[in-house]
Amino acid sequence: VRALIAAAALPALLAGCVTLSVGGGSAPPAAAPAPSLDAPLPPPVARPVWPDPVEDETNNRARGFGLVHSAPALDYLNGLYARLKAAAGVPEWPGRVYLIASDGLDAHASAAGNVYLALPWLKQADSEDELAALIAHEFGHVYLHYHRLDSVVVDADYSMSLLQAGMALARREAASRRWGQADSVQAAYALGMNFAANLYGRGEEYAADEFALKLLHRLGYSYDGGVKAMLERIDSREAALAERLRQRREALLGQRSEAIRAKGRQDQTKGELLAPVTAEISVGITSLISSLSDSISDSVSEVAGDHPRTADRLERVALVAERHEAELALRRPADEPLQRLRAREEVRRLLENYQLAFDLIADPAAADGPAKAQRAVSGPTARHAVPLFAAYMVQQSRPASGRGQARDPAQLLELNMASESDRAWIVFRERADAYLRSHDRRRARGVVELGLQHFARAEEAWPDVVQRYGIVEDWNTAKQWGRDCAARFERMRSRCEMAALSPDEMRERERQAQQKGEDLANRLKRRVERN
Ligand SMILES: [Zn+2]
Repeated sequence: VRALIAAAALPALLAGCVTLSVGGGSAPPAAAPAPSLDAPLPPPVARPVWPDPVEDETNNRARGFGLVHSAPALDYLNGLYARLKAAAGVPEWPGRVYLIASDGLDAHASAAGNVYLALPWLKQADSEDELAALIAHEFGHVYLHYHRLDSVVVDADYSMSLLQAGMALARREAASRRWGQADSVQAAYALGMNFAANLYGRGEEYAADEFALKLLHRLGYSYDGGVKAMLERIDSREAALAERLRQRREALLGQRSEAIRAKGRQDQTKGELLAPVTAEISVGITSLISSLSDSISDSVSEVAGDHPRTADRLERVALVAERHEAELALRRPADEPLQRLRAREEVRRLLENYQLAFDLIADPAAADGPAKAQRAVSGPTARHAVPLFAAYMVQQSRPASGRGQARDPAQLLELNMASESDRAWIVFRERADAYLRSHDRRRARGVVELGLQHFARAEEAWPDVVQRYGIVEDWNTAKQWGRDCAARFERMRSRCEMAALSPDEMRERERQAQQKGEDLANRLKRRVERN
């Protein structure tokens, strides 16, 4: 039961359920000899049909803040990817590297062969070897786990229903009143999607690491600067996030969580053994959701889902590297190409401006906010979603100045909406919502329609579209859009349907979800008791 107390343990447990339900690799026995880096790769599995890579890219522009466009950086990363594909004997495979506009250290691959890396990797990596290791690991999932990349997606709905249930439970007990219903449902979806995207089993993570070790070895990269450095960076980031999450949880919940635990103990004395477990689950979920609400770009997902056992992975790759110790000792990481890239004016300013922007998003009311915001939206990032969003938040956090009509801060966002290479769905959504807040349904509707012109094939954008039609038209219209959405995107069915629920229907659904949450808690309790 103790383990449930850690904030990070709960999602691990939930994700565990989902992993079990879809099968997946198990760890090779610890006694198995470490493989040789000179051994051949498993043969590539033929792919009769690749998913459309452009659709995949657009869909990723509809997640979070979308993608970061930087020609020099992307050319460099795609050069690395091309060399890795060639080293694996599949130079003709589709798929490109993209930079995610987040301030975490997330990375994922898609069935279309695309590899997505969070921007801080470009800034923090010590050498080319480290970036090559990360791309090679993600490429490993494309090469080895093609079928899983698909099944992960199919299972998204399942993990979402679990989370929704858990969340309803949390809401009942912790009564997190700061949250509107739509907010909490969206947060549950966000969490669910993160879990769904990170459902690789332990064995699959090892296999992708080993794949990366072999490719890097073939290309002459070092072990210390490559796979090892990459895993160490993830490991220390996870530790830092877990600590931050713990602190934030304490600060946010403080007395409230104490009250919940106290109630748990009280229930226990009444003979209800389940109570302490339920109480801890409630605290865990509530704190996770609170964290998400506090910062749009919070990195809870990193702690919760991806690569949860980095220390184990480090141990395993070390065993493999040991077999080649003498040879690997001679290799030096290539730090020069990356330094040269980062020294380019365009890339240097891009990294600087994103840092400013993320700082502002975390603290838009900062004293020097306006000056920083101006810098963030200058030069190479003048039309990027993150800096513009930061500048928008800075303006919003300040009372309107000057005479006459107050300027509409959301106008800033239109710069991104007009930029082909930088468009992010979140900007369209926020522009529409800003109009809705000033009761201008006609313009809000116009923004949604404009957004659809660019994001019609991005399934991630559709629940937002459906919900906004409910607001600007009526909920029957929303339901028509919801059915259209479900017909186009099989795996989005339940999210489309949820988005079309009127506030009254949503309340009823929450009531049902609460019941499910209790069932889930009961199942968890039985599991805990068995162990
Ligand atoms: Zn992985």
